[in-house]
Amino acid sequence: MRNKLVAGNWKMHGNLKENAALLEALISNMPKPGNNADYAVCAPFPYLASVQVALQGTCINWGAQNISQYEKGAYTGEVSADMLNDFGCRYVIVGHSERRMLFGETSQIVAEKYAAAQRAGLIPILCVGETLEQRDSDITEQVIDEQLKAVIALTGIESLAKAVIAYEPVWAIGTGKTATPQQAQDIHQFIRKGIASQDKGIAERISILYGGSVKANNAMELFVMPDIDGGLIGGASLVAEDFVAICSAIKS
Ligand code: PEP
Repeated sequence: MRNKLVAGNWKMHGNLKENAALLEALISNMPKPGNNADYAVCAPFPYLASVQVALQGTCINWGAQNISQYEKGAYTGEVSADMLNDFGCRYVIVGHSERRMLFGETSQIVAEKYAAAQRAGLIPILCVGETLEQRDSDITEQVIDEQLKAVIALTGIESLAKAVIAYEPVWAIGTGKTATPQQAQDIHQFIRKGIASQDKGIAERISILYGGSVKANNAMELFVMPDIDGGLIGGASLVAEDFVAICSAIKS
């Protein structure tokens, strides 16, 4: 059975007080993992230390939302993989569409960040997805293919054995518009088939998450699709009750 994961992406939200309350509610109410399910929250850098203290020894993992492609040196404002390891991160999101679009991260840079994460033993959650314009132009598969190929060209197909992919249609992120379960399934299947053409075993084992306005009331219909192995959750991960409900949907 494939591993399942629900990961919250807090983005640039929260503060010490709000985070403490959110984590306390998650710790008290999260369903026990099992059924190959894992849960995580990806917090802003300054809060990783307090998240680590709060979550150590619980069933919830944690990670970061970005990483430098460089190991160390004169890179003002950057955060390295080793630094994330110092704070016990298990996961790091790479290639989120907000990083690609607002901060100019190309597929090559994303691939380098993915490689940096893996060199340090972190699990990259590699985001791929198309804009509305690209979907309307019928080039969704081409876009995703290019995003994946950049990573595979740099790190090899075998690197996907230690990674998670998140399909996040840009038009569904933070918009309240969710891909239909069938739309999401079609792209997840496309991704899995593409990987299978190079390595069947890795394709069968890799977790592919869906992200884009997943809420408590639509999580289940997405998670029952055969190639959807969980979710990357933005807005709803900031509300304990909603995030717990989404995590419960992956477990059942
Ligand atoms: C995200 O930021 O990765 C995301 C999926 O956001 P939301 O759930 O708010 O659409």
